[in-house]
Amino acid sequence: PVRVRYAPSPTGPLHIGGARTALFNFLFARHYGGAFVVRIEDTDRRRNVPGAEAEQLAGLRWLGLAWDEGPDVGGPYGPYRSSERLALYRSAAEALVDAGAAYPCFCPEGEACAGGCGTLPPAEARARMAETPHAIRLRVPEAAEFVFHDLVRGPLRFRGDAVGDVVLLKRDGTPTYQFAVVVDDHHMRITHVLRGEEHLPNTPKQLAIYAAFGWAPPAFLHLPLILNAERKKMSKRDAAAETIARYRDLGALPEAVVNVLALLGWSPKGTEEVFTPDELVRRFSPSGIGKSPAVFDPGRLRWLNQAHLKRLSDGELARRLRPYAEAAGWLAPDEGEGSDGWARFVAAVRLVREELAFLGDVVPAAAFLYRPDEAVLDAAALSPAARAALFGPEGRRAVAAALQALQARDPAAPWTPEAAAALLAAVKAATGLGGRALFLPLRLAATGREHGPALPDVLAWLGPVRFRRRLERALA
Ligand code: GLU
Repeated sequence: PVRVRYAPSPTGPLHIGGARTALFNFLFARHYGGAFVVRIEDTDRRRNVPGAEAEQLAGLRWLGLAWDEGPDVGGPYGPYRSSERLALYRSAAEALVDAGAAYPCFCPEGEACAGGCGTLPPAEARARMAETPHAIRLRVPEAAEFVFHDLVRGPLRFRGDAVGDVVLLKRDGTPTYQFAVVVDDHHMRITHVLRGEEHLPNTPKQLAIYAAFGWAPPAFLHLPLILNAERKKMSKRDAAAETIARYRDLGALPEAVVNVLALLGWSPKGTEEVFTPDELVRRFSPSGIGKSPAVFDPGRLRWLNQAHLKRLSDGELARRLRPYAEAAGWLAPDEGEGSDGWARFVAAVRLVREELAFLGDVVPAAAFLYRPDEAVLDAAALSPAARAALFGPEGRRAVAAALQALQARDPAAPWTPEAAAALLAAVKAATGLGGRALFLPLRLAATGREHGPALPDVLAWLGPVRFRRRLERALA
């Protein structure tokens, strides 16, 4: 059975590179009915950042990339934090020393250890090990060859002299990344390693370690580099700024972020670009992953987010917008989905949803509905043309006529979009005004804006009382 893993080092928040790797592993696992494992690679204590593991996991959770095994949920091959597996790495390294495949290196940290330590007779090496601090290095013959078939790049070949005597354990007894990753991938029965192209130079070193143990390596698939919109390699700073939390705060939908990430290196068959996570799982295939760098274009996130917003029902969209509505004071936390306030909010969402690219856009888009009637018209903020249309003689005539028609109507009659449209028709007949000369002043009076949803729909949402107050305010 397929088993894949996402193995972040807890050195910072989840950003697009890591999230893309996590997503491709997730899609691979789900597509083939396998297991998706999350493992925290935290043996380099100086690089660990407090809180980063929790941030990584929260980011994955928000994206909807549920894992089957991991540090929080456990699993049959745990623990899932490498810092909790130190004894395993030590005994694995010991076994390689015993077999003569690895040797203690007494050279000062950071020096090449130009072969000297590797040639000590085993007994002497053992004796010095007991009293002298040492690293453990793999013995890699210069003439050895390491070949693997990358699932994207095809066969790749590396010579031993390019690999060198890989350090397995550091002088402090902790494993290097190269060693921990092999021991863990083996013991966790990982079948496929999907990771970024920047790890390609690590793969021969890891193959040398597999060979020393006599273990069969997993299959490897290296995902293409991610370039910025200018088609340049993303700087560390660029990449670090593109965090998943930032997209969440921007009001992106997780399914839109997942969609954007999936297209960073994977191309679907056909021309469709908008996919739900389920559709991605179904359509995903390693054969769709390319070698050429993927370009991250923030404009595409905006476009895809809009496309995913369109797919949501009014009620579902309103549910996603709820935190913004509560923060704006439009909904109280205790106004549940059966409440009038909720029904009005869903109706407001129906009015303005066309204007939304990100969830946060609902605040400027719907504010005119919820604003107090006295505050909706800000004459100073209007364009000169709008001001002239509203406060000129024709505008005042239109507003006064609408007010009159409202006062004359039967207050018991239902106030629907049709009723509001009929009222506007009556104002038109009474004033002889039409088109922009009639509708712009009425829209400005009712909404404070020059553009927006169909006026009868807005008026129906406001109700006749609030509509009247807004008209009165415009005449004052
Ligand atoms: N811990 C490594 C990283 O953060 C993962 C490397 C791997 O997937 O083998 O990049």
